[in-house]
Amino acid sequence: MSSKPLSENQLLALRFVQLRWAAIFSMSLIVLALFLFSQRHDVFINSFIVIGVAAIYNLLFPFLIKRFFFFTENRVFTYFRSTADIIVVTLLIHFTGGVESPFGFFYLLELAAISMYSFELIAVLISSQAAFLYWVICSLEAYSILPHYRMVDTPGTIYYSQAYVNSKGLALFFSSLLIIYIVSYLAKKLRDKQHQIEAMSVAQADFMNMVMHETKTPLTSILGYTDLLIDKNPMENQRDPLAVIKRQAKRILNMVNDLLSLARIESGKSKLNKIDCDLRDIAERAIEEIDPIVKNSGVEIVKEFESSLPLVKVDEDKVHEIFINLLSNAVKFSNKGGKIFVSISLIGQELTVAVRDEGLGIEKKDLPLIFDKFYRASKESVERKGTGLGLALCRSVIELHGGRIWAASAGPGHGSVFYFALPVQA
Ligand code: ADP
Repeated sequence: MSSKPLSENQLLALRFVQLRWAAIFSMSLIVLALFLFSQRHDVFINSFIVIGVAAIYNLLFPFLIKRFFFFTENRVFTYFRSTADIIVVTLLIHFTGGVESPFGFFYLLELAAISMYSFELIAVLISSQAAFLYWVICSLEAYSILPHYRMVDTPGTIYYSQAYVNSKGLALFFSSLLIIYIVSYLAKKLRDKQHQIEAMSVAQADFMNMVMHETKTPLTSILGYTDLLIDKNPMENQRDPLAVIKRQAKRILNMVNDLLSLARIESGKSKLNKIDCDLRDIAERAIEEIDPIVKNSGVEIVKEFESSLPLVKVDEDKVHEIFINLLSNAVKFSNKGGKIFVSISLIGQELTVAVRDEGLGIEKKDLPLIFDKFYRASKESVERKGTGLGLALCRSVIELHGGRIWAASAGPGHGSVFYFALPVQA
C-alpha cells in the first residue's frame, strides 16, 4: 500500500520535531552542568521533569503530524505547539534561577524557527506571550509568591528587584521582535529568489519545448525531400552530399525527439501504456531492428535469456526504445570482432536485463554521471558521435516504471555492462 506524500506543513512540523530534540538535548546538558555547579537536587529533578514532558510530547508529535491533517494545516495548532514549548522554557527558567537563569535564549530559538517558516503573526503573538510569562514568573519570585531557586552560592538578591525584572522582560520582548523581523525578512528574500528561479526555469523549459517543436516540422520536411531526391536517381556528384544531409538531419531529429520525450517525462505529462509483455520478445525485436548496424560494425550479439520468465507490465514501445538505446551504445562502443551479451533473468521480484560489451569501458568516476543529460564520458566516446541523451531517457523511462538502471565496468578497455531491473507484479 503506498502512503500519501506528506504536505509541506507536515514536513515542516517534522523538521520542528528534530529541532526540538536538539533543544531538549542541549537543555539537558545545561541542567546537568547547573546541577554539578550548584549541587541542588530539587533543581535537577524539577528541571528534568519539565524536560521529560517536552520529550514525551515530542515523541507523540510525529504520530499526530502524520495521522491528523488538521494538526499541521490549522495555524491554531501551530500556535499551540509553540505555546507548549514556551511554557516548558518558562518553567525551566523558573527552576533554574528565574531572572538569573541561562534559559532565556531558548525563547529566541523558538521565535527564530517559527519566523523562518513565515508564521510571523504567530511569532509576534508567541513573543508577547513569552515576555509576559517571563515577567510574571520573575515578578512572582520577586514578591516571594513563588520560591526562587538560587543557582550560585553568593547571596544574590537581584531577583528581588522588580525594576530589574521589568527591564529584562522588556529587553526580551524587543529583542525577540527584532529577531522575528530579521529572520522573517531574510527567509522571505530567500523564498522570493527561489520562486523567481522556479519561474525562470519553467519559462526556459517552455521556450525550449517551443523551439524543439518548431524545429521538428522543417526537419521532417528536409528529411522527406532528401529521401525524394535520393529516390529520383540523383547525379553521381549529388549522392554523397544528399546522404550527408540525410544523416545529419536524422541526427538532429533524433536529438529533438529525445529532448521532447525527456521534457514530457520530467513535466509528468508522459503516460505509460502498460500491458503484460514478455521482455524476451521486446529484446528480440530490438536485436532484429539493429541487425544492419551490428553487421556493419563487425560485432556479434549473443542472447542469454532464461527459459521461463514471468510477464511484466510495461509500456512496450518505451521499453523497446531502452533496448535500442543500450544495444546501439554497446555496438557503438565495441571494437570490430567484439561480442555483446544480452541476458534476461528473474532475480528476486525483478526481471533484470544486462547488456554487456567488450568495448571501450567506462572509468569508475564516470559511472554515476553517464545517466545525466548531455554527459559523455571520455574523449574516445565523444569521437563516436552521439548526443548524451540516450541514457538520460532510459533512466527516466525506467524510473517511470518503478524500476532501476545502473552500469558497471572494470575500467577503460575492459567493456561495460548496463543493467536495468523492472518489478514483476504479484
Ligand atoms: P551518447 O551515446 O549519445 O553519447 P548516452 O546517453 O547513450 O549518449 O551515453 C552517455 C555516455 O555514456 C556516452 O557518451 C559514453 O561516454 C557512455 N557510454 C554509454 N554506453 C556505453 C558503453 N556501452 N560503453 C562505454 N561507454 C558508454
